[in-house]
Amino acid sequence: MQHVDGNALAGDLADLFGVDLTAMIASCAHCGARGPVAGLVVFRTAMGSVGRCAHCDAVLVVVVEHEGRARASLGGLRALEAAPVQ
Ligand SMILES: [Zn+2]
Repeated sequence: MQHVDGNALAGDLADLFGVDLTAMIASCAHCGARGPVAGLVVFRTAMGSVGRCAHCDAVLVVVVEHEGRARASLGGLRALEAAPVQ
């Protein structure tokens, strides 16, 4: 299955949280790797999207639509931090 980067989650996450999360720094709960949400490895299907850690392949984010509403599981994240101010 072909994958895309975390920018593919921008619309779904913005619908849920009201902001663009792709520049935020995600920490993987499995391996501890840190990097922007835009750097996740994303697999999209008709059922939803799965964002995996680019270092260890752990599932960090799952976004699905259920009964007309978007739902997200962020269970693979240790933390989500604001991007550093430049
Ligand atoms: Zn990881």
